[in-house]
Amino acid sequence: MSRTTQVITVDPNRPDPDAIEYAAELLRRGKLVAFATETVYGLGADATNPEAVARIFEAKGRPSFNPLIVHADSTAMARSCVAEWPEIAETLALHFWPGPLTLVLPRSAIIPDIVTAGQATVGVRIPRPLVARDLIERTSRPIAAPSANRSTGISPTLASHVLEDLDGRIDLILNSGQTDVGLESTVVDLTTRQPHILRPGPITANDLERLVGPLRVHEVAPSSANPSAPMTSPGQSAVHYAPRTRTVRVDDPDDLARFTWPESAALVVLGTPHLPSLPGSLTQRFHLADPETAAHDLYVVLHQCDTSATSLIVILPPPDSPEWHTIRDRIWRASRPWNDPSSGA
Ligand code: AMP
Ligand code: MG
Repeated sequence: MSRTTQVITVDPNRPDPDAIEYAAELLRRGKLVAFATETVYGLGADATNPEAVARIFEAKGRPSFNPLIVHADSTAMARSCVAEWPEIAETLALHFWPGPLTLVLPRSAIIPDIVTAGQATVGVRIPRPLVARDLIERTSRPIAAPSANRSTGISPTLASHVLEDLDGRIDLILNSGQTDVGLESTVVDLTTRQPHILRPGPITANDLERLVGPLRVHEVAPSSANPSAPMTSPGQSAVHYAPRTRTVRVDDPDDLARFTWPESAALVVLGTPHLPSLPGSLTQRFHLADPETAAHDLYVVLHQCDTSATSLIVILPPPDSPEWHTIRDRIWRASRPWNDPSSGA
């Protein structure tokens, strides 16, 4: 762990090869480098070096039972991390890589225990941005990279989010601007008889089912398909991705009128509901009207509330429709119902 964290700005379209080589050299020496993927900023370490990977857990305060996703620059490198490559993996990789889809498969001998939290499986994917792929290619090792934030916090979509959370705890941040997609990858387990979505993400169940047939889905937010929303599976807990600021959700817009608004509360509206009239004292209002904008900016909004003196974040969730599915999942993890006594609102 270093005392100070260096930040180097790189052009996402034409990254400076010297900067990438410098970052790759740090990774080869077992250091920690944060870099943007299309989902969120990842905290990278050489996945084949257990001491380097241990530093990720230390910097994040991540519990050792939570496995890390391994990032590759090519299908060949991804395949070197796994012991089996079934036809379904080939199909999904061909369609969605590089992209925000993590495939869980039996791990190979090059992946140490610490990466997989002792499990016999490993999650792998190829990220899309040039900076990420150049970096992995230059390092010529698979890179373990969970989100570059303190454990249980909100994932970073800007380099400044990483710095706020991990300054002094990691060696370098490659700043290539805001991440394109803004939500964590879809995680699909291919080791079970029926493939199982462990974490919904930018690539939806529908996208996957069109190619490979029916899947099982793990959900946190209730939906028409799954009204009770059970939890958990390895490394997943319902409260995750949560702001430090008290955060509640209000399902029915009419309830906003009944709400006691504390000073410096923030309202985050997703979708386009018909809003009741709201108090004029409510100065922090954010509106994320469509799923793509919401994915891109949700964490920026939540981080902004967390770093300002916001006393309460009130979220009006989007409708229960497939295009909002992943956003609802993240909102359910980040908040409690406003009328739940333990929400303290
Ligand atoms: P993060 O990188 O912080 O977005 O978290 C990675 C998530 O990927 C974990 O919380 C797990 O849910 C999932 N994951 C990674 N590897 C595995 C694995 N081998 N088995 C099941 N889930 C995994
Ligand atoms: Mg994370």
